[in-house]
Amino acid sequence: MNMQLESHKSIAPYEPKKGEEYMSPEQLLHFRKILEAQRAELCREIDRAVHVMQEGTTIFADPNDRASQESDMALELRNRDRERKLIKKIDETFHKIDSGDYGYCEKCGVEIGLKRLEARPTASLCIDCKTLDEIREKQMAK
Ligand SMILES: [Zn+2]
Repeated sequence: MNMQLESHKSIAPYEPKKGEEYMSPEQLLHFRKILEAQRAELCREIDRAVHVMQEGTTIFADPNDRASQESDMALELRNRDRERKLIKKIDETFHKIDSGDYGYCEKCGVEIGLKRLEARPTASLCIDCKTLDEIREKQMAK
């Protein structure tokens, strides 16, 4: 889920005014814009890939060609799967913006922070909970 999207870079980071409250309407609008741009970019990417896949279904006579085509396809499918998951995550994040939960950690409720959200607008955990999660995941993988 660490995809860097072009659209994201084109939106300048939010500069809060002095004394501005966390997750003010302006801040929410800013993150909504980033998320909308990311979502549009992902949809374009999926559309493009679908065309490539449709054009790429040549039947090769050589089994080696066939094998490499199949692994290309598998890679494409994995990428698509990742993009779809990210779109789902973005949609969930829109719901959070609407319900007023955006910007707060799902586990402990602390502010996730503008800096972290700027880098990962779909972040749903604070850095502490995220780090703990990752440690746990590593231990499970052992
Ligand atoms: Zn937390």
